[in-house]
Amino acid sequence: QWIYLNGEFVTKENAKVSVYDHGFLYGDGIFEGIRVYSGNIFRMEEHMDRLYRSAKSIMLAIPHSQEELTSLIAETVERNGLEDAYIRVVVSRGVGDLGLDPYKCKEANVVIIVEPLAIFPKELYEQGLEIVTVATRRNRPDVLSPKVKSLNYLNNVLVKIEAHLANVSEALMLNDQGYVAEGSADNIFIIKGNTFYTPPGYIGALEGITRSAVMDIAEGLGYKLKEEPFTRHDVYTADEVFLTGTAAEVIAVVKVDGRVIGDGVPGFHTKTILEEFRKRVVSEGVK
Ligand code: PLP
Repeated sequence: QWIYLNGEFVTKENAKVSVYDHGFLYGDGIFEGIRVYSGNIFRMEEHMDRLYRSAKSIMLAIPHSQEELTSLIAETVERNGLEDAYIRVVVSRGVGDLGLDPYKCKEANVVIIVEPLAIFPKELYEQGLEIVTVATRRNRPDVLSPKVKSLNYLNNVLVKIEAHLANVSEALMLNDQGYVAEGSADNIFIIKGNTFYTPPGYIGALEGITRSAVMDIAEGLGYKLKEEPFTRHDVYTADEVFLTGTAAEVIAVVKVDGRVIGDGVPGFHTKTILEEFRKRVVSEGVK
């Protein structure tokens, strides 16, 4: 396995950054998770746009143009010879002193890791997930925008811990007003009748790229789509519920806080979207 690290391709054992890196000391940095399907990188440009928007928002200078970084990612994929893979791009503020001041960090650290996939087991797609809502809230958009895919993932980590404590594999975060925001690393959709609902970005959700692909697919199939705030009640009483994310793709949710959703099995519309999504990922990807 070859990892890109600041201009070099190194082995996993040699892929090391300093303990003075501000990504390590303060979670000061950003990242992206991207999928490769049959050798094609899925929605690369959207991921790169989001990475550069995240960088701009936190005033982090990525030491490559978007075009350069795009080709470095493609090169890392090629060197690892994987047809189906998960790519992790991390850009941290870089090495500074122990103080918080990011202006003392001379240059960002850039890391590209390409690995075989580790997604939810196949049975979970067939059975659907049981999830719970947790006490951890999504950070307010005016404090640190959830649109920034930053290395500050503590609330997402706490969501995972709460999910484990409840013996489920995923959980839902509400925002500070109690509206449903998203999962620990995935967006939520609910379906009622012929309409798909997903929380708008301002509620406190990352604008997921799988989310936007699913919105395109749903509209293309003639479903109605509404980006509007909703509560746990709306989730409990939905016909179908599913989560979307680069790693999870589209996965049905069949139980929320003990309430059975629909018939308690992945619903027709969710399965239709997953099938369509899996067809598109290859055709929409780029070499
Ligand atoms: N929400 C959060 C907090 C995430 O970290 C992710 C993962 O990237 C998502 C949602 C899903 O976004 P995407 O579909 O772009 O992977």
